[in-house]
Amino acid sequence: MSVFDDLVGQERAAAVLVQAASAAAEAVAGGRGAGMTHAWLFTGPPGSGRSTAARAFAAALLCPDRGCGHCDLCHQVAIGSHPDLESVRPQGLSYSVKQTRELILRAAGAPTLGRWRVVLFEDADRTTEAAANALLKAIEEPPPRTVWLLCSPAPDDMVTTIRSRCRLITLVTPSAAAVANVLATRDSVPPALAEFAARAAQGDIERARRLALDEETRRRREAVLSIPVSLSGVGECISAAERLVKTAEEEAAAATAELNETETTELRKAYGEGSSGKGLNKGLVRGGAGALKELEDRQKSRATRIKRDTLDVALLELVAFYRDVLAVQLGAGVVLANEDRRADIDDLARTTTAERSLRRIDAIMRCRERLAANVNPQIAVEAMTLALRP
Ligand SMILES: [Zn+2]
Repeated sequence: MSVFDDLVGQERAAAVLVQAASAAAEAVAGGRGAGMTHAWLFTGPPGSGRSTAARAFAAALLCPDRGCGHCDLCHQVAIGSHPDLESVRPQGLSYSVKQTRELILRAAGAPTLGRWRVVLFEDADRTTEAAANALLKAIEEPPPRTVWLLCSPAPDDMVTTIRSRCRLITLVTPSAAAVANVLATRDSVPPALAEFAARAAQGDIERARRLALDEETRRRREAVLSIPVSLSGVGECISAAERLVKTAEEEAAAATAELNETETTELRKAYGEGSSGKGLNKGLVRGGAGALKELEDRQKSRATRIKRDTLDVALLELVAFYRDVLAVQLGAGVVLANEDRRADIDDLARTTTAERSLRRIDAIMRCRERLAANVNPQIAVEAMTLALRP
């Protein structure tokens, strides 16, 4: 057993990392450690397991047995409590230069346990331009025992200067069979449900897991996939757009509410407010109000991000639906992502053309771009549903 067993369908990447872990172990033992690199960039499509791969590599660097997967140190890396591991996951839309400088300082210290100091930076593409410049300086001249593990969806998401100084680990979309196998063996999902979830999630392991284990996620998917056949007129298009945006808002609210409350309570405690303190800011020591404001800004930014991500998942589901329609129209004879929607897909395939399906997919992709560029969601989504009309 090893930490790399968690990498599903990533044999090539795992082989490179195992070898690098050996070089690293040699360096720790006083050898040359030829091939040891201090900056790594993990890229791959959503759900391919970028952070899982980076975390496995972190464990392989910090475990005396190169990532055995069962010792205390491996466990500490898995839950993020290892003293030499700095885990960063930007919660908002961007990661500031101030935060980055603080991170660089924390990363520069000598390893407490004598091996490496490892920084696992998820979504490193969210660094602002100034933050990326600070980061570049840090990885250009790393302290001898610091290793940076950056993750971003595509190499192009990182500025060229950073990219060119990193060793690239490219993850691929795992096959539906590999994902189904993991769900069935590790999460004890019944085989039929595992296969359905793996196909519907199109290689996104986390999404597949949620689809398999959470009924609410399956219900939301149903709601999204019922949209294409409901778009008979302008009124329906507008209300479908409203539903999509509202569902994303509700999901984001549910995901953030609990987090926000815990953080706010902790911050208030840290600034000396007793459990009895009720009135806003009352009883907070000097600086508390400013910190509270900063926290609220961060929470707002995180909510926006989760809302956007949730909406994007729905749009990708629609893309998959029309791609299925297109596959039927072209007689591609492949297994459909949405086999459970076969009747609707066959219907649309018969009554429209392949060219029309392509244009619909374009309309959805355009909507995603506009949302990423901060266009009002209702407006962008409405334009899309109108373009999806028969
Ligand atoms: Zn271990």
